[in-house]
Amino acid sequence: MAASINGVGGVGFGGLTCSTKTPLPSSRSSSFRVQMSVPVEDKKRNYTLQKSQEAFNAALNLMPGGVNSPVRAFKSVGGQPIFMDSVKGSHMWDIDGNEYIDYVGSWGPAIIGHADDEVLEALAETMKKGTSFGSPCLLESVLAEMVISAVPSIEMVRFVNSGTEACMGVLRLARTFTGREKIIKFEGCYHGHADPFLVKAGSGVATLGLPDSPGVPKATTSGTLTAPYNDIAAVEGLFNSNEGEIAAIILEPAVGNSGFITPKPDFLEAIRRLTKENGALLIFDEVMTGFRLSYGGAQEYFGITPDLTTLGKVIGGGLPVGAYGGRREIMEMVAPAGPMYQAGTLSGNPLAMTAGIQTLKRLKAPGTYEYLDRITRELVQGILNAGKKTGHAICGGHIRGMFGFFFTEGPVHNFDDAKKSDAAKFVRFYQGMLREGVYFAPSQFEAGFTSLAHSPEDIQKTVAAAENVLSNI
Ligand code: PMP
Repeated sequence: MAASINGVGGVGFGGLTCSTKTPLPSSRSSSFRVQMSVPVEDKKRNYTLQKSQEAFNAALNLMPGGVNSPVRAFKSVGGQPIFMDSVKGSHMWDIDGNEYIDYVGSWGPAIIGHADDEVLEALAETMKKGTSFGSPCLLESVLAEMVISAVPSIEMVRFVNSGTEACMGVLRLARTFTGREKIIKFEGCYHGHADPFLVKAGSGVATLGLPDSPGVPKATTSGTLTAPYNDIAAVEGLFNSNEGEIAAIILEPAVGNSGFITPKPDFLEAIRRLTKENGALLIFDEVMTGFRLSYGGAQEYFGITPDLTTLGKVIGGGLPVGAYGGRREIMEMVAPAGPMYQAGTLSGNPLAMTAGIQTLKRLKAPGTYEYLDRITRELVQGILNAGKKTGHAICGGHIRGMFGFFFTEGPVHNFDDAKKSDAAKFVRFYQGMLREGVYFAPSQFEAGFTSLAHSPEDIQKTVAAAENVLSNI
């Protein structure tokens, strides 16, 4: 089994090392030197995570919790995080030389597969001209045009650097346009880590058991009203008790941040009707679902057109990008066309635009979403069948390249239902699958992702591994 792609494990920095100013506390002292790359084993021997363990111990002294995004720390699945060395297609290789079939896909962007040759070539070409201009460039208009022609609700778009930024911007815009301040969000939906959204926020917040975060002033969340997902009556109740005050409803049109949850038939339609009736805007947060459920996103898939949409992940092809867009009359309120301020030093930078353009080009080819649908159905059905055969309560589903499963009979229609999943069993399953060479998101409350690079063999191997693990836990 190859230790890394092309046998070049740890290449790129020539083993450059850097030292840390602070000595490691003695409790975590280790002979591990912090370095940009570590030699990777040539062959997979017994499954060991020794190098990852040492790297994590060192990282704990350097970054809070040893990571730059909380879910990566593996807190909800025990053990310690795995340090990756390289990725290619549907596979990842860690610094101990273990190989994994990957269903995280960098949390969504890697929909055509990791480190795609055409994307890498295009990036290399763009890089020859520089990495950032801080002035308009043609690539921004190319990607903007692609996004506008693909996503039904988007007539104009603003690029930013992350999904969080996109959601912050779109919220300010909805408030500007309506002159109202309150918003409705759903329990277990995550819209990035901006203050007003850190209420019943799912994802890492759920994983860490933080119902809210300290440091978020009450004033910034006092206008955030919440309802259970798929509960139309609760939304009607909020509109009735806050008449004329609600600027917008924001939601994940299919949820990925409480695990994978789909909208009930008519839910999105009812939300669309209620927002119109009450003079509020409808915002689809498609940071996860955009270009994943279909080329036109969840709004195309479900046939419901929101007023505003946020995007991220896929449209950056693995580089940092977010975007928000919508009806022209609303978007023209954004500076400098209009009064609502929002800006970004690296927004629309040429590398991110290039990776996005190449990724969307590939997705547009005929048959891509059908392929994603087929392999993801096989994967989920295989896991559910294996679970049932081995006597576990299990439910799950997928849409195109997005999926999830819970260790409960189900059905799961909202975050409270999701929390009925057997968390301890998930941990045993998770650890077993890692040993089998399958890398799922390290939390019960995250969706999984497939890519065009996942082969039928990847799926068969994963299902066989799941059968094996499920019969032993
Ligand atoms: N909205 C949704 C639906 C997301 O899934 C995420 C991230 N998982 C975000 C917003 C925030 O995006 P980012 O992590 O790029 O800030």
